[in-house]
Amino acid sequence: MLVVMKHGAKPAEVDAVVRVIEEMGYEARPMPGAQRTAVGLVGNDGRVDSSRIEALSGVAQVIHVTQPYKQVSREWKPESTIVTIAPGVHVGGNEVVIIAGPCSVESEEQIVTAARMVRAAGAACLRGGAFKPRSSPYSFQGLGKKGLELLALARRETGLAVVTEAMDEAGAELVAEYADCIQIGARNMQNYSLLKFVGTLGKPVVLKRGLSATIHELLLSAEYLLASGNPNVILCERGVRTFDTVSRNMFDLTAIPIVQQLSHLPIIADPSHATGIRDKVIPMARAAVAAGANGILVEVHPNPERALSDGAQSLYPEQFEQLVGELRSIAAAIGRTITPAPQLTSAGATR
Ligand code: PEP
Ligand code: MN
Repeated sequence: MLVVMKHGAKPAEVDAVVRVIEEMGYEARPMPGAQRTAVGLVGNDGRVDSSRIEALSGVAQVIHVTQPYKQVSREWKPESTIVTIAPGVHVGGNEVVIIAGPCSVESEEQIVTAARMVRAAGAACLRGGAFKPRSSPYSFQGLGKKGLELLALARRETGLAVVTEAMDEAGAELVAEYADCIQIGARNMQNYSLLKFVGTLGKPVVLKRGLSATIHELLLSAEYLLASGNPNVILCERGVRTFDTVSRNMFDLTAIPIVQQLSHLPIIADPSHATGIRDKVIPMARAAVAAGANGILVEVHPNPERALSDGAQSLYPEQFEQLVGELRSIAAAIGRTITPAPQLTSAGATR
């Protein structure tokens, strides 16, 4: 439930609303706005009797949020949220943010080469996993902390903001230290204790849709992050598992406009894991931007044949460069722009 205060309501009136909400056994979240203040009521699992609150002075309107995901819904917050990953990198507004890089961080040479190449092609952020959720325990598991150090080095070299996955609480603390944005992977979308913890770290989060999660489940998982105090959440459509096996997953393009209608949070698309096949990544990346995605998360490797994970879906550098050019044209056709890559000067990387 959202209690919208009258324009010019006094602080004492807002305090009274907060007090009554707490007396009723719920949590109050005052949200001062440019025009007027609202007070969110959280902690309810069903409709709340609002008669006591409606009678308070200074209250303009009470809005019952009908969705089970409250703070994530557009009913709660009609204007789109813009998540700032790093200075100049804003996800959720008119810009399309390109996050690119290898599936895994493999070595200093590999990640720095990849970072230079994706920056030169026009990406604003670097991706690369240091903690890898692999289906087999015998597959490459990632370099761990060393991988994070290499990502930080690549950021110093290129100015790219870094997005990387955390799989558990200890890893999330480390990722928060080294990276600009914490990725919660598909396999952990419903790891609620991890979500509660990551929500307290004060870093932007990319939350990927689970392998067979519905859109409502994705939004409810995002609610965990917001309920733990983190409003900076970027959702990511990365394909879901269906009956068909011709591609790795089925890319749910419809999720983009559906999420944008149901939620104020930005949504990006990962055409790499969604398709699993290099040649299919390119058309789906184009389609995602045309559909209004706020960004693209795409795997690119300096030498895909030698990749330690997801080589088959990793773009060749030249393919990525061409793709960025195409995405620029598509974005322009719908009145958007691609977030510029950081500039390199003699003093170092800047935005
Ligand atoms: C990844 O981004 O490398 C990854 C493992 O993705 P997902 O969680 O979507 O499978
Ligand atoms: Mn991958």
